[in-house]
Amino acid sequence: MPKVIILGSSNAVPSINHENTHLVIVGEERTILVDCVSNPVVRLEQAGIDFNNLTDIIVTHFHPDHVSGMPLLLMDMWLMGRTKPLNIYGLHYTMDRLEDLMGFYGWAEWPNFFPVGFYRLPEVEMACVLDCEEFRIHSSPVHHMIPTIGLRVETKNPGKILAYSCDTAPCEQTIRLADGAAILIHEAGGAVFGHSSAEQAGEIATKAEVGKLYLIHYPTGPFANGNIAVEAGKAYKGEIIIAKDFMTIEL
Ligand SMILES: [Zn+2]
Repeated sequence: MPKVIILGSSNAVPSINHENTHLVIVGEERTILVDCVSNPVVRLEQAGIDFNNLTDIIVTHFHPDHVSGMPLLLMDMWLMGRTKPLNIYGLHYTMDRLEDLMGFYGWAEWPNFFPVGFYRLPEVEMACVLDCEEFRIHSSPVHHMIPTIGLRVETKNPGKILAYSCDTAPCEQTIRLADGAAILIHEAGGAVFGHSSAEQAGEIATKAEVGKLYLIHYPTGPFANGNIAVEAGKAYKGEIIIAKDFMTIEL
């Protein structure tokens, strides 16, 4: 049964029990990491996933709290003798900077590096990210500080749809991305530029008529304030779940 495991649920400032927001989509054939932060090898191990089984990485945008773990992950895969290819997907803006970042580490000089495919996604709505036996994943640009994508993940067996807003202010693109989805994972970073409050996440969930709302990318630890599920409940009457690190969502 395909599933999503939440690897982190915090906004840009993590705390003891909340790593920066990232997650992994786990199927039989494909294991797809969505964003890569902190210490990915340890994080995946804690989630029961061998980091060498990763087949794909989707990078939503080039902010440190979403991409900073990439050099370490790639280096660790190489050190452990990985030979199988890895696919990385993101917007041009993201991928250009990711290649520059690896360039700063001089990775071209690391001998026998495994094949890494950089796939640049068009900045259009419902761009096909990947379409394999188990999953069909589309991306749409959302409203953040820099070019950023949200995702629509469809499992083919059983057919189920999960949408992920990524970092964004409330926007029509997220509503269309999440249209009729069983699950919407929406950020609740707060009503500041390029982000959404929990109540705004609830409004999006209502407009998209989703079955269930997970709140993510919220202030944690000493910065937590109020009950975000109650806030979201003012605008959405379906089930609301506050995403926590290592929570599993069955698809
Ligand atoms: Zn961001």
